[in-house]
Amino acid sequence: MKYKDFREFKIERTCNKKLKRYKSYKKYLRKDFHERCAYCNTWEHMIEPLKFSIDHYVPRKVFKNIDKTLDNNYNNLMYVCPKCNREKSAKYEGNIHNLEIKNNLFPNPVEEDYNEIFFRNEYGGIDSSSEKGRKMINELKLYRPLYNIVWLAEQVFTVRKKLKKKIKDENLSIASKDKLKEALLKVDEYYIYLCELLKKCYENK
Ligand SMILES: [Zn+2]
Repeated sequence: MKYKDFREFKIERTCNKKLKRYKSYKKYLRKDFHERCAYCNTWEHMIEPLKFSIDHYVPRKVFKNIDKTLDNNYNNLMYVCPKCNREKSAKYEGNIHNLEIKNNLFPNPVEEDYNEIFFRNEYGGIDSSSEKGRKMINELKLYRPLYNIVWLAEQVFTVRKKLKKKIKDENLSIASKDKLKEALLKVDEYYIYLCELLKKCYENK
């Protein structure tokens, strides 16, 4: 059952630079992908200091003897979390000889609207009611419970932001502020706990 949209923004490619090494695009990808994984939408700050990487949408193994320009073609690069990077690796379905940036196993996170394919279900998990969505969920193992924890951490982070804002309210009495500060400490603790748990899930191969 659909509970919420999959993401709250659209990924847009804003970098027009032509760089020699694909790795040099990392800071541009980071910005264009809103510091989130192209496929699972995990926010990179939640798993720090673990690092996100660059994924070749059409994998290097597939294009290496056919079209080397795909190595540093910005349109073939995605910003990804360590889990998706590992699971996707060289998985590919399509015809590389068509010279298109296409990979039938994974809907293109920039060109396709993920909110039309994926959603968060009532447990916070990543879900889809379409065949192509389910295919990607299976390929990247997005059915793992860790994505429910990501969702929970997102909710806690939102509460944290609201509390912080409320504490700054000048009309609030000192006693009320103190109560909110106490609540914020507990929420902070819980958020940190969830992020630690996530990191453990991420480190566990
Ligand atoms: Zn991911």
